[in-house]
Amino acid sequence: MYINGRFTSGSATEQIEIINPATEELLDQVPRGTAQDAQAAVQAARNAFEDWRRTPASERAAALHQIAAGIRAEHDRIVRLLTREEGKPIPENEEELWWFEETFDYYAELARHERGRVIPPGDPGQFNFVLKEPYGVVACIVPWNYPLLLLAWKMAPALAAGNTVVIKPSELTPLSTLEVVRAACSHLPPGVVNVVTGYGPEVGESLVLHPQVPVVAFTGSLAVGQRIATLAGPMMKKLHLELGGKDPMVIAPDVGMDMAVSGLAYAALINAGQVCTSTERVYVHESIYGQFSEELADFVSKLRLGDGLQAGTDLGPMIRNPFREKVEGQLSDAVAAGARILTGGQRPAGLERGFFLRPAVVTGVDHSMRLMREETFGPVIPMMPYGDFDEAIRLANDSVYGLGASLMTHDARLVKRFFEDVKAGTIWINDPLTDNFAGPFGGMKMSGQGRELGQEGLDEYHEMKHVHWDVEGDVKDYWYPYP
Ligand code: NAD
Repeated sequence: MYINGRFTSGSATEQIEIINPATEELLDQVPRGTAQDAQAAVQAARNAFEDWRRTPASERAAALHQIAAGIRAEHDRIVRLLTREEGKPIPENEEELWWFEETFDYYAELARHERGRVIPPGDPGQFNFVLKEPYGVVACIVPWNYPLLLLAWKMAPALAAGNTVVIKPSELTPLSTLEVVRAACSHLPPGVVNVVTGYGPEVGESLVLHPQVPVVAFTGSLAVGQRIATLAGPMMKKLHLELGGKDPMVIAPDVGMDMAVSGLAYAALINAGQVCTSTERVYVHESIYGQFSEELADFVSKLRLGDGLQAGTDLGPMIRNPFREKVEGQLSDAVAAGARILTGGQRPAGLERGFFLRPAVVTGVDHSMRLMREETFGPVIPMMPYGDFDEAIRLANDSVYGLGASLMTHDARLVKRFFEDVKAGTIWINDPLTDNFAGPFGGMKMSGQGRELGQEGLDEYHEMKHVHWDVEGDVKDYWYPYP
């Protein structure tokens, strides 16, 4: 753990073993942090806050740029560690770490000129202004699927805005987080950044319930998000919740087969389908459905599974066996209800170690099946045909989630209908799962609240104060006694 500028085992008496999901080998151990460790980290962050919030924005910006530079200097080593810990192929981890570095540079710049605004006075003699202020200590609770990217999307704007942070990495992937802190945070004043390793109910809930933690920035499952909201709601904390998804993709009849097939395979299968915005439901126009299913199954059956460290690997393992079993359960339920698996869905021969699952293409599904209703978070592409575009929009919206949605078409009329009528925080046309530093990312409906990236992502970590200042300070004719 890293508390108050020091690596420590805190009060932990047990260790958590971290394994490589591609080989099931033990990589390392981290302390199983306790409520006491969470308390110590919050205290350190709180103590550091008063100076950090008063540090000139340009100095904070310089510190953030230094973090980015520190990671770049260790880039290859951290990419390999991330690959061994999380499992996805090197090119995907290259991109994840690039996002980490660039996010720090982006918020270093954006926060340099952020303090609020001066507004016209409400009464003569008054000077009115709105201050944007940091909250204090931000708890950053992060999942395992993008441990560094999702950390940067919280930590960089939180620090840039003048907050201090306590990070709770996933118990499955804490090593790269600790390495990032080791490589890049030693120049920060003690307490500005802290990391407490451990489990959610112990460390996570201690942070959520701590009275000195006014903001909880959480990315993870809907169930844990609901638990955090239940605990933190009565304390009126600011909650930033990035939760699950069940993203649809609609494929119109006018698109080229090659683009739609490879674009869909990427959107559904990157990181073995373990992305909050993975395409998990596909609606293909009935006129191309048959040919499209065959070409997709052929394309997907040729993807290469393996250890993410090896060149030429398209898909790595799933993170752990229970996650794979959940996917297998959804698939077998769907098959029992009439679905047909065109390819994949089984554990690959020759990869007995590691939590691999061959990517599946499934037809004959409908919205009564768990496979089309619940988050799958695995390498599965279930597809249905649609007739007219109204039906496609209705199907796309038929989910409790509203994280992202994709459309493949060159027809501008369909594009307009799609971005106006589909309820999701991100809409992708012809280029699914892209991100942009300058634009907000987040969910509608049960996919959460709050936004990451962009100006909106910085505002999440600022609270507003309106100052009414009567500079002259005279007695007013609207005070007592009334005329
Ligand atoms: P998870 O909810 O199980 O865990 C996320 C984090 O919360 C971990 O650090 C965990 O230790 C901690 N936690 C668990 N119980 C807790 C509790 N009671 N109190 C406080 N913290 C607790 O999620 P996961 O399996 O790590 O990640 C996968 C999930 O994350 C998926 O549902 C996925 O859709 C979601 N996700 C969402 C986004 C997004 O931006 N919307 C991005 C990535 C992942």
